[in-house]
Amino acid sequence: MPTFVYMTRCDGCGQCVDICPSDIMHIDKTYRRAYNIEPNMCWECYSCVKACPQHAIDCRGYADFAPLGHSVRVLREEAKATISWRLKFRDGREKNFVSPIRTTPWGSIKGPAEYPAPRPEDFAKQELALEPETLKIKGGLPALRPDQLKQGVV
Ligand code: SF4
Ligand code: SF4
Repeated sequence: MPTFVYMTRCDGCGQCVDICPSDIMHIDKTYRRAYNIEPNMCWECYSCVKACPQHAIDCRGYADFAPLGHSVRVLREEAKATISWRLKFRDGREKNFVSPIRTTPWGSIKGPAEYPAPRPEDFAKQELALEPETLKIKGGLPALRPDQLKQGVV
């Protein structure tokens, strides 16, 4: 049960569907509400939880930050540019965290199609597209030189 949707809060906007990297948030054709079609395949990345404007998605966090039987509620407040996490434990204790949503305005990050197409020589490099410029690392990514590699290390 990594994520689940409160049907009475969801308005079927589809933002969770668009953002889910696992493509498991779908809109039910009859009820026009979102639901997680395959909880076992959920990465628990919480992208949908953070993106939902109705705060309709609840989740079960990783066992390392909250044990079984707890609940995690998320409140995204765009006006304050914060996201708040409320953990409620089985014994009634609560923990609250507040962190910034992001450091750039929503929608300001360029999509892949807005960048120049890779040049033929880029396909022979080990870096990913537009690295290292986009990582803002001067002189290239740190890497081992061949003379630093040892063979037969036990
Ligand atoms: Fe998809 Fe991540 Fe939400 Fe799981 S937590 S349903 S992987 S967006
Ligand atoms: Fe429903 Fe929230 Fe998903 Fe929109 S983002 S469809 S309100 S669960």
